[in-house]
Amino acid sequence: MFVFVGGVSPHAVSRDLPARECPACGAVGAMQERRVDSDLSLFFVRVLTLERGAPFLACTRCGWTSMAGSGGNGAPAAGAVAQGPACPHCGSDVQRGWQWCPFCGGPLW
Ligand SMILES: [Zn+2]
Ligand SMILES: [Zn+2]
Repeated sequence: MFVFVGGVSPHAVSRDLPARECPACGAVGAMQERRVDSDLSLFFVRVLTLERGAPFLACTRCGWTSMAGSGGNGAPAAGAVAQGPACPHCGSDVQRGWQWCPFCGGPLW
């Protein structure tokens, strides 16, 4: 039984960037700016935004993102801070306590 009345949940925000060109595949119009906020919700209603996630760019065509470690400049820094668990479905960094992956929508429990 899964009963949820309140808590912190991720809220993915995306905004189309029609004029932006993807640095990976060169597509124009496929870029989005994405952000994952942490929302305080109560009875499934968003009460307030606790924390705004850092915005990053993502290409809806080839899947490129500007997040660290996704093939940007050089190798990921050695000894990078572990953010917590990774999504078992898509490998995105997720935070402890999240119940759904905001990137692929998969369950995290
Ligand atoms: Zn692309
Ligand atoms: Zn995922």
